[in-house]
Amino acid sequence: MTEETLFSKIIDKSLPSDMVYQDDLVTAFRDINPAAPTHILIVPNRIIPTVDDVQDSDEATMGRMLRVARDLAREEGIAESGYRLIINCREHGRQEVPHLHMHLLGGRDLGFMVAREK
Ligand code: AMP
Repeated sequence: MTEETLFSKIIDKSLPSDMVYQDDLVTAFRDINPAAPTHILIVPNRIIPTVDDVQDSDEATMGRMLRVARDLAREEGIAESGYRLIINCREHGRQEVPHLHMHLLGGRDLGFMVAREK
């Protein structure tokens, strides 16, 4: 069995969070340290450490994450102005929590996608 993660404890509600959505495949909650007016994390309920660990059988879950992102963006009122979805992977992606998660960020101009090296 895969070990618990910070996010699996949020998913099973043993840790508190500002949860905005949950279904059989995914959970969404507000980031504790928001980088934009809307900053929501969309997480698979199954513990998948990184994008590199996604299995072919997770395809429905990956699709659900995008559909939920679309719906939450509409609910947050940022669908028209636009937003960014980010999934960080491992060291170079600066992934901090080893439970796959998609950031939904919006509510302001987010600037360039990636800081360029000078
Ligand atoms: P990443 O760098 O992609 O792994 O992002 C991890 C994100 O998790 C960061 O934006 C953190 O602010 C966020 N985070 C860490 N702990 C919590 C928590 N208990 N509840 C909500 N968000 C959290």
